[in-house]
Amino acid sequence: MDKVLITRVIPENGIEILKDEFDVIVNKEDRNLTKSELAELSKDVFGIVSMVSDKIDGEILEDAKNLRIIANYGVGINNVDISSATEKRVFFTNTPDVLTQATAELGFSLILACARRIPQADRFTRNGEFKGVNPVLFLGKELYGSTLGIVGMGRIGAAVARMAHFGFDMNVVYYNRTKSDREKLVGARRVELEYLLKESDVVIVCAPLNEDSKYMLGKNEFSLMKDDAIFVNIGRGEIVDTNSLIEKAQSSKDFVVGLDVYENEPNFDRRLLELDNCVMLPHIGSATHKTRMKMAEIACMNVLKVKRGECPDFVVNGGELCRAKD
Ligand code: NAP
Repeated sequence: MDKVLITRVIPENGIEILKDEFDVIVNKEDRNLTKSELAELSKDVFGIVSMVSDKIDGEILEDAKNLRIIANYGVGINNVDISSATEKRVFFTNTPDVLTQATAELGFSLILACARRIPQADRFTRNGEFKGVNPVLFLGKELYGSTLGIVGMGRIGAAVARMAHFGFDMNVVYYNRTKSDREKLVGARRVELEYLLKESDVVIVCAPLNEDSKYMLGKNEFSLMKDDAIFVNIGRGEIVDTNSLIEKAQSSKDFVVGLDVYENEPNFDRRLLELDNCVMLPHIGSATHKTRMKMAEIACMNVLKVKRGECPDFVVNGGELCRAKD
């Protein structure tokens, strides 16, 4: 029986799809596989259901002689060496669309948590410090009518824009490398990055990690942002130079940061923990029951489709492998 490796526990509906046709190996530990564990376990498998945190490079692919598909459990694709996968005729798929709304909602939750200091107020109340209504307690920022700048307005960014425009009457601007055809639908206007950073009361990063976005926000970019802005990152940690972010948050207590993603996850810069003006989440953008089940279904169905000689859905490596089969 062919084997499938699932690198973290996923919702059971995914495993159900695979279990009759494959020997399914699941990493049941509450940690990512190390590089050597991943390499060893990948050696004789037909498919890998991988997390966006699993780095699958040319070396791993070289030794994975039976591998036919890497089905990423997520929309991000920066964890896999795509050209090596294509060269080795390994399908690489992801799970776009189904996680758009959940991730956008989480992004907007972070904006609201930062604006109204919700985690700090929760800790305060639990600590028994609530002594009655206080007119100057936990004064926050109001979003209504303010300016939101979206760095990377694709599917997720546009869903955030829609919430901001229709729900909070925010003035929405965005920066993409190319003009988005979604902009009119969500009331957003494309501007240069410098303008966005200078003018926005809230900046949210929804871009993928790629050659152009890696460390695109550094010292200079943080210096352009308002000292009392809200800065949220739900894209990828490596888009931001963490050192510059920390310096900005240290020097301006009114600058509030909300993070779902980090450089070098899960070993993020521990100085972030010392910032009271920072809300930190453990990369849970798409974490709703509904979305995670849908992601499991797509990823596992894709493995099954390849086994049955069909073309999987959401092929990242150009569909060349599908075309080659026709
Ligand atoms: P998408 O539809 O492909 O949108 C990406 C957008 O970013 C596009 O509009 C793209 O426009 C823009 N972009 C790409 N490179 C850029 C750059 N260098 N500078 C500025 N804009 C850039 O992807 P999506 O489905 O919205 O997902 C976006 C990302 O969110 C994923 O790749 C992933 O990293 C992240 N994500 C995080 C979580 C989480 O749990 N926190 C969950 C899901 C996704 P141009 O190509 O025109 O620049």
